[in-house]
Amino acid sequence: MSESLAKANRDRSDVTVVAVTKTKPVEQVAELYRLGYRHFAENRLEGLDEKQAALPQDDIIWHFIGTLQTRKVKNVINRIDYFHALDRLSLAKEINARAEQPVSCFVQVNVTGEESKHGLSPAALLDFVYQLEEYPNVKVVGLMTMAPIEATDKELQHCFKGLKQLQEKVAALQLPYAPCTETSMGMSQDYPIAIAEGSTFVRIGSAFFAETEE
Ligand SMILES: *Cc1c(COP(=O)(O)O)cnc(C)c1O
Repeated sequence: MSESLAKANRDRSDVTVVAVTKTKPVEQVAELYRLGYRHFAENRLEGLDEKQAALPQDDIIWHFIGTLQTRKVKNVINRIDYFHALDRLSLAKEINARAEQPVSCFVQVNVTGEESKHGLSPAALLDFVYQLEEYPNVKVVGLMTMAPIEATDKELQHCFKGLKQLQEKVAALQLPYAPCTETSMGMSQDYPIAIAEGSTFVRIGSAFFAETEE
């Protein structure tokens, strides 16, 4: 991580490391907490239940990173600080209805147009963001993407650059409900490239745990 930051000429405080704990036992997550990590991400309601019950209540920042079924919004939305997978208006509507205060959301974008991926197409993004004005409990803090798994460095670069440009485009609209200053991009396989392209939230699962197990 430090190496990637140095190479990209970026400061440690520019990038939030989100530990993706979705498949990890509570003991390992508690160990990360002891080491000082405070941003944790789950992708299922059950995982959130388990980890939140076992870990300290006051100072953890919780992220939800997976596809969220509309019917589960009410069980999740008031227990998290960031939601990384806003990809449809029906979901925004339900979040708006169930949230007790504005929720920091990342709009998920499918930058490369892979069929298997969730997220809006770049072409549909601006319209989508404009329509979110109707939902004051949805605050668009940034954009999120998942890069293709078997991509070359060049393709990854292209994908992350694309998301960064879209983020800047939305930010330039200066919509009060969509500051859109952040990008959630970069996972174990590709975070150095994401950091080089300006990511502000990296979501690290496997590599992160491999490192702390040494
Ligand atoms: C699992 C997951 C990650 C972390 O993946 P790793 O390859 O283990 O780092 C990041 N983002 C999302 C949306 C995930 O589902």
